Amino acid sequence: MGAGYAGVAAANHLTAEAPTPVRVTVVNPREEFVERIRLHQLVAGTGSAVRPLRPLLRPGVDLRLDTVTRVGADGVALAGGGDLAADRIVYAVGSGAGPAMPGALPVRHLDGAVALRHRVDGASAGTPVTVVGGGLTGIEAASELAEAHPHLRVRLVAGALAAGLSPAARDAVRRGLEALGVEVREGEHVDAPGDGITVDATSFAVPGLARDSGLAVDDAGRLLVDDALRGVDVPTVVAAGDAASTPLRMSCQTAIPLGIAAADTVLAELRGEQPRPVSVGLTMTCVSLGRRRGVVQPTDRLDVPRGPVLRGRAAALVKEQVCRATVRFVRRPARAVTRAGDGPLLPATVPA
Ligand SMILES: Cc1cc2nc3c(=O)[nH]c(=O)nc-3n(C[C@H](O)[C@H](O)[C@H](O)COP(=O)(O)OP(=O)(O)OC[C@H]3O[C@@H](n4cnc5c(N)ncnc54)[C@H](O)[C@@H]3O)c2cc1C
Repeated sequence: MGAGYAGVAAANHLTAEAPTPVRVTVVNPREEFVERIRLHQLVAGTGSAVRPLRPLLRPGVDLRLDTVTRVGADGVALAGGGDLAADRIVYAVGSGAGPAMPGALPVRHLDGAVALRHRVDGASAGTPVTVVGGGLTGIEAASELAEAHPHLRVRLVAGALAAGLSPAARDAVRRGLEALGVEVREGEHVDAPGDGITVDATSFAVPGLARDSGLAVDDAGRLLVDDALRGVDVPTVVAAGDAASTPLRMSCQTAIPLGIAAADTVLAELRGEQPRPVSVGLTMTCVSLGRRRGVVQPTDRLDVPRGPVLRGRAAALVKEQVCRATVRFVRRPARAVTRAGDGPLLPATVPA
């Protein structure tokens, strides 16, 4: 379920490694793969975040253009009508924007990003653009817009700027934003949009599908899983990516290895073996500041910053290479490259 980073990696890994012939069907609402990590580029007009999905799927993977409306132990219900029976289900429906801020448009999903692009294209010189949210998405959106549209007045309103980064990395981000002419307002909150264009980059939210289907979820609505990513109350449903309840930051960086790990769990069961506990961790935080600047902060597997910070053009190059690599990795999942960590990291949450 879901042809994002986790779902495509899972489907391809499963198809490539299955010990016996399997039928893998990917259910996704659209025929395109959305590179969510480039949505801020789509908004600013510096790149596309959409590419054809079928070429990313291995031969033999069936693509069903539909939306899952209910998930159960032995199959899913589809919006287009009917059910799809399955022995195993990979729950990889990702995430999108949190509760809507009235009058603002979210950058976190494709429809919001496309609507923002139209607003930006039609904006006259001097139009204020307020990006709300001081996390990585807000920082990338503000800097991309400021660099590509210097005639707009871009400001970034943040309760806290780049809160997860080290002081050195945060300082590099702040300097990069200022060099691009972004007005940074820290310690402020926005309840209602002002004049001009307001970009909502505040919160992630996952679909309510698992909860609505009666499955055990955490407070955010992510599927509660065991140490092999199987649903705690429905072990035939294996979760991956943003929609899985893990201690990992919601990210493409973890979605791909989690997709591979979910497929490994299914593969082990196909072989009649006990799945191994999942070991996935983070390695770094990369943030682009337009096309010519960036900041790369190495981290430990639980996302704690460590080591020296890379900045400037070199960091921008690293970030771009990482973005390109994600597409290669989902197409040909490379476990040795994408999985990190020295031991089990799950379960993340203990069900009540
Ligand atoms: C602007 C921006 C920049 C980012 N930059 C970075 C970055 O630099 N590094 C990083 O690691 N992360 C980054 N992220 C976060 C990253 O994009 C997400 O964490 C990642 O996309 C999660 O992957 P996923 O496969 O779990 O879900 P998604 O990529 O969200 O894919 C989920 C898929 O499921 C489909 N789906 C949803 N509901 C259903 C349903 N009911 N039935 C069928 N299909 C369904 C969706 O249409 C979608 O195709 C960024 C995010 C944004 C918005």
